Amino acid sequence: MSDHNIQHFILGQWRDGAAGRTLPVVNPATGQQIGQVARAERADLDDAVAAAKAGFDTWRHMTAIERARIMRKAAGLMRERAGDIASLMTREQGKPLPEAKAEALAAADIIEWFADEGQRVYGRLVPSRHNLAIRQMVIKDPVGPVAAFTPWNFPINQVVRKVGAGLAAGCSMLVKGPEETPASPAALIRAFADAGLPPGVLGLVYGDPAEISSYLIAHPVIRKITFTGSTAVGKQLAALAGQHMKRATMELGGHAPVIVCEDADLELAVKTAAASKFRNAGQVCISPTRYLVHARIADDFAREFAKRASSLRVGDGLVEGTQMGPLANPRRITALNDLTQDAVKRGARLLAGGERIGSTGNFWAPTVLADVPLEARAFNEEPFGPLALVRTFDELPEAIAEANRLPFGLAGYAFTRSLKNADLLTRHVEVGMLWINMAALPSAELPFGGIKDSGHGTEGGSEALEAYLNTRAVSVMND
Ligand code: NAD
Repeated sequence: MSDHNIQHFILGQWRDGAAGRTLPVVNPATGQQIGQVARAERADLDDAVAAAKAGFDTWRHMTAIERARIMRKAAGLMRERAGDIASLMTREQGKPLPEAKAEALAAADIIEWFADEGQRVYGRLVPSRHNLAIRQMVIKDPVGPVAAFTPWNFPINQVVRKVGAGLAAGCSMLVKGPEETPASPAALIRAFADAGLPPGVLGLVYGDPAEISSYLIAHPVIRKITFTGSTAVGKQLAALAGQHMKRATMELGGHAPVIVCEDADLELAVKTAAASKFRNAGQVCISPTRYLVHARIADDFAREFAKRASSLRVGDGLVEGTQMGPLANPRRITALNDLTQDAVKRGARLLAGGERIGSTGNFWAPTVLADVPLEARAFNEEPFGPLALVRTFDELPEAIAEANRLPFGLAGYAFTRSLKNADLLTRHVEVGMLWINMAALPSAELPFGGIKDSGHGTEGGSEALEAYLNTRAVSVMND
């Protein structure tokens, strides 16, 4: 079997879909089909849910230390296999090989951190206000089998953040992986299986996303859902979860503002802007997009940013030295083209890129637009691509108001040397994650998630475990 022919993983077995149907897997750098992925039927989902139920019964009764031992072993396997996993990921997803390897290695860190944190899930004893003979206990239990829906942009990271926390809390996890990039999540699941995870604790299925999510969310065995993807789809799934009273974590879209104050270290701001914007070809939920730059330094900033954007080496992520790979699919090229044309038509100045590169693969030139009007679609819709938009401001409150104007509230960035500005930004920019004078640096021990239309719940830090736990109160009269 080719490395890119991927099956479902149900009750500890790799298997085809019940009807033998598959979906094609395409390399976004060449447009060539490189493999296929199994497509689940109702019968497969029934089996996967039954397996998750059985897996939960096993896993919840193991101690946190036993669970951590298996998770740590899986982390070790991810580290050993990171090089091979990286080439799988680059072939199906497009990102440069070093970025893919870093993602596989980061997965190991995330698994280990949650394995340890899972050993610190404690309850509490609360003295009674009525009678000291009453022993009042607060108990934390795993919520039950969880369905996780994950996208293609970080095919391992998006899965491991959910699986790491869920397994550490004692839940079983059934993952609906990304059909575009199925081999990378399969490699992660294989590491857990090879580490000795009992059958059913972790499952993996692929197929029609809407069909699978509507079936799993409604299923009485599934007690929680967790989704990463667009705000539009997230709202549909959250509504469905509400109908069935399921817990839900939603990690959705963003439109990150970057506020560059007059007193900023300009060189740092430009260097960080270019490195962050074009990472994974801008297909990142926390990707910086709206650059709000103080009017006095805006021309210098935009010129230097455009220079860096134009000098990036764009190409097949497997080729050494490539700094930016292709977009995930031809739909993204159309989207980027429409957004760029619209902004230029409304008066934006094109400083770099703005067009497709070549006719093979989904390559879009790193694009910088200046003087972008507020009404431009790109200034309001998540571009999810290598598109940077620059506008000026005169007073900081004006920039903060613009940062908060959109319904999104995922990530934000700012550059300033002033403590006063940093404090104002900290207090008033409405985002789940704010980085000041630095690029985004998410890590397992820090909360990761958004506010407003960017979702709810968090996928990092001890708060991430809470999302997989029920809190119960038990009182015992001892007299
Ligand atoms: P899309 O909205 O069609 O799909 C986004 C993701 O959601 C995919 O993984 C897809 O499989 C899944 N999905 C779609 N409908 C679903 C459903 N009914 N049930 C369960 N899962 C479902 O968009 P796309 O063209 O694949 O990606 C582009 C858009 O997706 C971007 O504009 C971006 O906003 C969003 N996206 C966000 C993230 C993120 O990290 N937050 C990741 C990938 C994509």
